[in-house]
This record gives sequence, structure tokens and C-alpha cells, in this order.
Amino acid sequence: MFNKKTIDIAVLGAGPAGLTAAHALADKGVDFVLLDREQHTNTHSYALALHPETLELLDSLHIVEPVLKKAQRLSRATIFDDNHRQRAEINYSELPVKYPFLAVIAQDKLEAILVKTLADKGHRPMWNHRVRCIEQSAAHLAFTVDRLTEGMTGYAVAHMETEIDKVFEYKANYMIAADGHESIARTSAGITFPEINQGLDYAVFEFETNSRLLTEMRMIIEGSRTHIYWPMGSQRCRFSFQMPPGFAQRHSFNKDHQWVDSDAQHVPELSNRHLNLLLKRHAPWFIGSADDVKWRAMVHFEKHLVDQFGKKRIWLAGDAAHMTPPAGMLSMNIGMHEAADLAERLSMDRSDEVRQFRLNAYNTDRSGEWRRLLDMDHRIVGHDATARWLLDHHENVVGNLPASGESLEAVLKQLHLTEAA
Ligand SMILES: Cc1cc2nc3c(=O)[nH]c(=O)nc-3n(C[C@H](O)[C@H](O)[C@H](O)COP(=O)(O)OP(=O)(O)OC[C@H]3O[C@@H](n4cnc5c(N)ncnc54)[C@H](O)[C@@H]3O)c2cc1C
Repeated sequence: MFNKKTIDIAVLGAGPAGLTAAHALADKGVDFVLLDREQHTNTHSYALALHPETLELLDSLHIVEPVLKKAQRLSRATIFDDNHRQRAEINYSELPVKYPFLAVIAQDKLEAILVKTLADKGHRPMWNHRVRCIEQSAAHLAFTVDRLTEGMTGYAVAHMETEIDKVFEYKANYMIAADGHESIARTSAGITFPEINQGLDYAVFEFETNSRLLTEMRMIIEGSRTHIYWPMGSQRCRFSFQMPPGFAQRHSFNKDHQWVDSDAQHVPELSNRHLNLLLKRHAPWFIGSADDVKWRAMVHFEKHLVDQFGKKRIWLAGDAAHMTPPAGMLSMNIGMHEAADLAERLSMDRSDEVRQFRLNAYNTDRSGEWRRLLDMDHRIVGHDATARWLLDHHENVVGNLPASGESLEAVLKQLHLTEAA
């Protein structure tokens, strides 16, 4: 009845973080399995930009070329105030990095490339494999995996339902848990996921327009709210308008694996009329048609950070460990680095003692990095008018800039800000 399997590393979740871990493990020749409960990659653009350092990471995994082929390169990001005045600018082309730009690529396209290139390395995600009941012992991890199928049920009205087709009992030495914000691995390890700040509600619209699109990312800061514009290539762009608290449901931050959200079509706040009103009010500089809406959603973005990045044999990467505001695309970009970092630490020396030592250092390094990214120790300072205005909007700006890694310092400098020692 139960099939037993033994593996060195289990990667849980085939989102951007889990797929990155799989690439890094494949390159190192490590024995691993990549499990995901869904049938395929997700179907929307969600986190749609890669930072310069993430492009370098993809380069080191030999997969940057196909990503760049599908991406739009952006060299500029600007920050505007409520009088539609530009307050600050980031010029990526001046950064001392190999890829001095943001690469705009819809998350579904990125995931599809990660899956395709992983197949070229001889590995595939095991879709329809849902992990439950993870237990840690001193010697190993044991967990149960349900293989799912869709079956037709119902007498009067037939409908599809997910059924368990087979159950597997796995043993693994370690788990890279990239299973998203509701991580079962995190819960099993007993790691808490405190809210570090109030969540933010957004109305998100993606549409095609008839006008020439501005080729920069733009943040519009109005009091405590931040609206966001991204050009996406092929006459398509995304506007995310921050709405009052309570606008979106808490459970709205869930990946939708369907192409069309039929509910969203009929919500008045997501109507074309409301979109045109929001554009007029918050982005009067946008001139062009906005009727051809391809995706609309109300999303509640929470802000969470784990109190530790792993315990014993379960180690976290991506949304399983953090959730951040939407403009900076931080959670996905940093999550991909974390996943590759875990793969590297687990493959360098395979003795348990050395692995434990390196994993404990992972916790210290990653916690330190997030303290810096979110400026939790209030080290960012600046004294001229630009800096003062940005610091007055600390909540809107910090942890919400599309920048990370070593270039963050240079980006802050362009914004007239520095990190005090
Ligand atoms: C509507 C929406 C809009 C978004 N917009 C933005 C944005 O504008 N900016 C931004 O920065 N971010 C945005 N995001 C967030 C972004 O998509 C995430 O940061 C990113 O997906 C994180 O990648 P990840 O690999 O860590 O986790 P995920 O992409 O969540 O992947 C986790 C994977 O684990 C699998 N999984 C979970 N539990 C199990 C289990 N028990 N067994 C097997 N598999 C399991 C899931 O099926 C999933 O494929 C948005 C998300 C949503 C839902």
C-alpha cells in the first residue's frame, strides 16, 4: 500500500525558490527530489522583475540567456510624490554589476523557463505530489506524500475532485522548504512567522494599451500609500494601486492556477471604470487606452519574517520565510538566492556535522540580511531634502525598492541615503 523512498535532499515547492534550489542541486550532482502539490507552474505574472544580482545567480546556474530573451530590460526606476513630481531616481546602468538593469519577466514565464532548463539537466518537478506529516528525528526526516489525481464525481451534477491515488513514505536527510507563505514545513519545524508590520491592500490591473509605454518602473508615494507602475513589454503594463485597509481579503494572497479569475470580472473596484478613475487620480501622466484588461486582482500583501530560517533538518527559503510589500519584488528575488545558498551549503561537504554547522551559519547570515533589507535597526540615514523626504516615507520605501545584495548600497547612494556603520 505504501511506497517507501529514501533521498538525500527533498525540495518542497516548485515555485521560483524551489526551482532555483533544484537547479543548484542538479549542477552539484546531489541526490534530490522536487515535489509540488499543483499540476503545473502558476499562470500569472505575480512577482515580475529580477534584480541584477538575481540575473548573476541565474548566470551561475547557466540559465540566464533564455530568461533575458523573454525579459524586458529596465535601466530606470523613479519615485514620484502626490503632486506628480519626481523626487528620486535609480539609474541601474550606473551600478557596478554584470547585468546593470532590472529584467521584467512575468513569474509564470520565469517558472516555465526554470522547469524547461531543469529538464535539460535531467530533472523534473514531481507535480501532483502533496507533502503532509513531516517528522524530524535525530537521524533523518520522515514525511508522507500524497500523489493526487483528478477524478470525476457526483451523480446529479458531475464535477472534478482531487483524489489521492497513491501514498509514499519518504526518508530524507534534509529538506529545502520553499513551500510558500503557508509553509507546512515551517509549521512542522515549530518556527514562528510573526507579522512585522501591517499588511497592504492592492487593486492590481494588467492591460494592453495603444500608447507608447514609459520604459521605467515608477513608485508613486502618496502619504502612507505606494502605487506602482511596471511596463511589461508588448504594449502591456501593470498598475498596482494601494487601497484602504480591508479592501482585499486576507486569503487573497493565494496563487490561482486558473487563467481567468471569473470572480474578479464583476467586482466594482476592479471594473474598467474604476481603473480609469484610479489612473486619472494617481497617474495622470499615463496617456493611453486602458480597456483591454488582461488580469485584475485584489491582493492583501502581508509582511512577515520568520524568527529563524530553519531547525535541524528543515530549512526555509522564499515566501516560506518572509513576505514583503510588492514594489521591490524582494521575497522572490531573495528567496531564489536563499534556495541556491542552501543547495550550496548542503552539497559542499555531505557529513552531517559539517552540514549542521553550515546551516546554522545560514540562519545567522539570512537573518542579518533581512534586518538590513528591512532596515530593522534604523541604520539608513540621509540629510539633504531628497533623503529627508524619503526617510519621512520610510515605510513606503524601505523593503520596497527593487534592489538587493551588493548593489543595494549603490542604489541607496543614488537616493542620497547611506547605511550607518
Ligand atoms: C496574487 C499575487 C500577486 C503577487 N504580486 C506580487 C508582486 O507584485 N510583487 C512581489 O514581489 N510578489 C508578488 N507576489 C508574490 C510572489 O508570487 C511570491 O513572492 C513568489 O511566488 C515566492 O516564490 P516561492 O518560490 O518562495 O513560493 P511560491 O511561488 O509560493 O511556491 C511555493 C510552491 O510550494 C507548493 N506547495 C505548498 N505547499 C505544498 C505541499 N504541502 N506539498 C507540495 N507542494 C506544496 C505550492 O504549490 C507552490 O508551487 C504575488 C503573489 C500573489 C499570489
